[in-house]
Amino acid sequence: MFMIKIKQISANIRRVTCPNPSKFTFKGTNCFIIGQGDLTIIDPGPIITGFIPALVAALAGETINHILITHTHRDHSPAAKELQQLSGATTYGAGKHQIYRHDIENRFEKSGDWQFTPDIKLIDEQVFTCDGLGFKAIQTDGHCFNHISFALTHINNSATIDAENALFVGDHIMGWASTIVAPPDGNMARYMLNLHKLQNTNYNVFYAAHGAAITQPDDRVAALIKHRMTREAEILKCLQNGIGDIVEMVKINYPNLDDALIGPAAMSTLSQLEWLIDKNMVVTDKGLSFEAQYQLANGT
Ligand SMILES: [Zn+2]
Repeated sequence: MFMIKIKQISANIRRVTCPNPSKFTFKGTNCFIIGQGDLTIIDPGPIITGFIPALVAALAGETINHILITHTHRDHSPAAKELQQLSGATTYGAGKHQIYRHDIENRFEKSGDWQFTPDIKLIDEQVFTCDGLGFKAIQTDGHCFNHISFALTHINNSATIDAENALFVGDHIMGWASTIVAPPDGNMARYMLNLHKLQNTNYNVFYAAHGAAITQPDDRVAALIKHRMTREAEILKCLQNGIGDIVEMVKINYPNLDDALIGPAAMSTLSQLEWLIDKNMVVTDKGLSFEAQYQLANGT
């Protein structure tokens, strides 16, 4: 039996971190419990034997009625099935797992939860109520195709925006690291569009699925946009200098990189190149691939 540590993080929100720490998940996936008595759960996490029964036992005396899924990666959605079986709750999400394109190899096949189908399929800006908790779905794809965030807009049917004013951002924005955006599971153009969408919004706090709460949302969004634009500028500089090979670009742009991080750096570079191709700034001799040679579209 797991020792479940539930932390009260605000008047209406509790958090339990799933026992799946790793170099990709930090301390584990944050599962959020919202409300009192009648509960809504966001991202119950991966399949870990015994975890969901222990969570349900820890919440004895309360009823889990709604399960919201930010996206169908295996560290977020698979436990929804067991939680639903034990509670009878309704599941919500932006549809089944999908990828952006089928003309390149999907190295992230195994990170997707291809089984999950929400009972209620949400679309961008959809407003819905769970036992008096008001939510708004905000489409934030890019990290993966069906990623959505959930704004907690009001509590106890109060028409005014509650002081919580929180946005549950899943993996779109994280406090501890930048998000993995890797084609064809992810898409940099969409990710950046949806970062800009959250710029200068009025949320008090972003609750990320990995790491601590983000209490300065505007600063974090600005820093993440700057980070990607810096990476793009580095890639453009390589191309200006006639370096059009991803392996060479990684050597220059990520000096002294640990061997284990070369793959992720190459993936991130590929993702930025896909975006530059989308913007008609870069061309390639072999489509989007690790083997291709890339050059500036204007030939310089
Ligand atoms: Zn994810």
